[in-house]
Amino acid sequence: MISLELHYFLSSTRLDAYKVVVQPSLPFIFNTQYSPTHHTEFHRAMSPYTYINASCHCELNTFRVAFPTESLPISSDLCHCDTCRHSSGQLVVYHVNIHGRPLELHSDDPIDLSDMTQYKSGPHTTRYFCPICSAHLLWENKEKEDAPYYCVAAGSLERVDGIVNVDYHIFVEDTKDGGLSEHLKTDAEGKELARYAKAKDSETLPLGWNVLEQTAKPPSDDEKLHAYCACKAIQFSITRPNEDSSLPYAAYPDLLKPYDVTHLSKVHNSDNEKWWLRPVHAEKPTKYLAGHCACRSCRLTSGFPIQSWAFVPRTNLIDPHTGTSVELDDGNRLKGLKQYISSPGRYREFCPTCGATVFWWNVSRPDIIDVSVGLVDQEKEGARAERWLDWHKERVSFEEMALARQTIQALEEGLKASATP
Ligand SMILES: [Zn+2]
Ligand SMILES: [Zn+2]
Ligand SMILES: [Zn+2]
Repeated sequence: MISLELHYFLSSTRLDAYKVVVQPSLPFIFNTQYSPTHHTEFHRAMSPYTYINASCHCELNTFRVAFPTESLPISSDLCHCDTCRHSSGQLVVYHVNIHGRPLELHSDDPIDLSDMTQYKSGPHTTRYFCPICSAHLLWENKEKEDAPYYCVAAGSLERVDGIVNVDYHIFVEDTKDGGLSEHLKTDAEGKELARYAKAKDSETLPLGWNVLEQTAKPPSDDEKLHAYCACKAIQFSITRPNEDSSLPYAAYPDLLKPYDVTHLSKVHNSDNEKWWLRPVHAEKPTKYLAGHCACRSCRLTSGFPIQSWAFVPRTNLIDPHTGTSVELDDGNRLKGLKQYISSPGRYREFCPTCGATVFWWNVSRPDIIDVSVGLVDQEKEGARAERWLDWHKERVSFEEMALARQTIQALEEGLKASATP
């Protein structure tokens, strides 16, 4: 081992022009046993960058990213483009520019990206996600061949307060109905978020913007809502509620009965209410309940902070290959799906080619499936698909667990403000 003794003597300086006298400082003596770790820590302490750890749910992928400290918090966009929605299953994707490459946790070496699956989503852009738990982690832009740059998926960051800040919506035009920008309207300070039709500084779209022709068309039984992931390996459709849709029994989700504060007997739904069908006590319901989730597991398996789910009976999810209901638990599983067990008895289903989150389900509730709303075909029905989905306006599921607490609170306020009395 090498013993380093560094002596810094700061001499007195006289700045006559400003008539300021700086007193001589005491010598600063830096004396430590040299080791690579000390070396790295010394450099990090002196660095103009702030380092934040990032990880996916299964922790196969852990790394850290650098942000220029003087630019914190980093302003960023929420992207509503078709590729972002269909490759994530979310209504918006939240990527943040980082400095340089993502780094190893315990050294300054760039990470080896070979533990991640790559999905080439554009001529110069690649998305990286975890092959085990499906979390999106990085977005790479190689428009300049010799100087690629990276963004990190904000949901994978260990800390976001004071680090990143949602600033505006982009590519809202792709949604046809404004998508999530109608629910998340302001930033943490209450300032309205701009809604750009395309990239930043393009034309902005007003609240309530909607180009769909059939918004007012009454629902009919022979309609189907198509859904697909970005690479189209996963496709299915949703039918209108029918007699079989009310057969399952299911406990209430946290969206309707916050688990933190609700007595278990109420969560158990002993009255057997068919809460997923909307309007809930209608003789002939035509829609399904939908809502946003901010839980840790949704965040770390998707890589993004807002997971939007629709609650659909399995009987109403149609497999295009068989023409019958989607199967999830045997040999006839919907083609292309990969499963991740996020905790015992809880299953997440995703596309192993593009990384889209597709379904969540649970052994005690096998016939009501959470469906990623980002996958729905926006062309005729819009990204929020309001002719099919009844959005819950009173609460974001597991908002108490949210990492980006202020963003989730802004989302909840926006939802409440858009509720029709
Ligand atoms: Zn993982
Ligand atoms: Zn996008
Ligand atoms: Zn896919």
